[in-house]
Amino acid sequence: MLRYTLCALLVLSWSCTSVAKTPGARAWARSDIPMTVHQVGPHSYYVEGRLEEASRANEGFIANAGFVITRAGVVVFDTLGSPALGDRLIEEIRKRTQLPIKRVIISHYHADHFYGIPAFRRIGAEIWADTRAHAYLNSHAAAERLAERKQIIGRWLGPDFGLPLPDRWLDKPVDFEMGGVHFSLRHIGPAHSPEDLAMLVEPDGVLYSGDVVYAGRVPFVGNANTRLWLKAIDRLLVIPARVMVPGHGDASFNPRRDARMTRDYLVFLRQQMGLAVQNFVPFDDAYKHVDWSRFEAEPTFNAANRRNAYNVYLQMEQESLSQ
Ligand SMILES: [Zn+2]
Repeated sequence: MLRYTLCALLVLSWSCTSVAKTPGARAWARSDIPMTVHQVGPHSYYVEGRLEEASRANEGFIANAGFVITRAGVVVFDTLGSPALGDRLIEEIRKRTQLPIKRVIISHYHADHFYGIPAFRRIGAEIWADTRAHAYLNSHAAAERLAERKQIIGRWLGPDFGLPLPDRWLDKPVDFEMGGVHFSLRHIGPAHSPEDLAMLVEPDGVLYSGDVVYAGRVPFVGNANTRLWLKAIDRLLVIPARVMVPGHGDASFNPRRDARMTRDYLVFLRQQMGLAVQNFVPFDDAYKHVDWSRFEAEPTFNAANRRNAYNVYLQMEQESLSQ
């Protein structure tokens, strides 16, 4: 009965059959999107989002998330792009262990990584994120992104979805132990975002890097400061890791080699746009005349490259003015 009341309330914009059956428990539609789990160490796993922009078809499953099973509980790294996807990740974890999911680390506050938080909060996990995410939460960009995602994947966010906060803000390096497994959390940013956080699972040599490094796709630059980002990649590579799980794309068993793609792309953007700025070439002309062939075949090139180049062009203008 209660369910029908709920349906009556939601019928205007929501499909009743896909709304969770326990009223009050979940406000978002269920997802049954396929999710393959990859194991990269004795305790360490990840799921890989599609190398696409968010769409209704991919439900916003466009980023990676990791989890680490210790004998005392589970640590999760990133929550994916909606509470429904967060639930899917929990289902996959539950196929492997019934131990409590105790802690969730957020790599950075971008929609595809932290919108899944409510699913984990609902089951009692504690959420940690770097304190520098405050800047994003209060930004116009965050409100705009939320409006956009509500349009595309609103049913998997739920009608009351608002930007979820962590339970604990981190402002310094943190090391902790769970079930005999040592974890190191390091602030690597500002790079892709001011708050970029990486997690090393020490016995496994597995580094969850967030979006500081993308594997196999053109990164999303946004308003990131690319000069600082390049420095951050070098800081990241100092961390002794056998495997690196990036924020997007396949895990890398040769972090040094694979970080090069992100680094080369950023260096190339800065060189090309820097030259254009130096020679007073307007952006459109500059963009047209750059030979992009080296990166053209990468997934998301068409969706991201022009915007990235434009943002870097503006940055190079700024940098030239402040010199
Ligand atoms: Zn991001």
